[in-house]
Amino acid sequence: MEERSAGAVIFLKTNELMFLILNYPSGHWDFVKGNIEKGETHQETIIRETREETGIQDLKIINGFNKEVQYSYYRKQTKINKKVFYYLAETNTKKITISIEHIGYKWLSFSDMIKTLTYESSLQVLKEAKNRLKIIN
Ligand code: ATP
Repeated sequence: MEERSAGAVIFLKTNELMFLILNYPSGHWDFVKGNIEKGETHQETIIRETREETGIQDLKIINGFNKEVQYSYYRKQTKINKKVFYYLAETNTKKITISIEHIGYKWLSFSDMIKTLTYESSLQVLKEAKNRLKIIN
């Protein structure tokens, strides 16, 4: 079975750059992401999922950043091949309201993100996002 999600490295500019990370019920810490519904563009998925999963309404997707992550996992003996398309997005909303899909969240600096992200693939996305932000700012 195939699964396709879109996600975002969401950042907030304070004194320091802060990044948003969610705690998934299965235990891992990862970016906001969610299933791409039929007929949706990746951008639409990200805007919708970010609203649902965090309450953020002012998300601004940054042009020119797009990274793909692939992994597979088993759900009731069925192998799921999953692709997640990551984008980079800015918010000014610090207050987060998580949904029942997650068990926690954190705003973290880059160095704390490195320590907290569960998967190497997401760590790679974060590093590339950070490089991209250096170019922008
Ligand atoms: P979505 O947020 O896209 O709706 P989900 O909450 O249904 O996703 P995933 O976060 O994809 O589920 O997690 C499904 C399974 O895959 C879990 O067992 C998780 O540990 C594993 N998993 C999640 N991300 C990765 C990754 N980057 N590399 C390897 N395994 C992962």
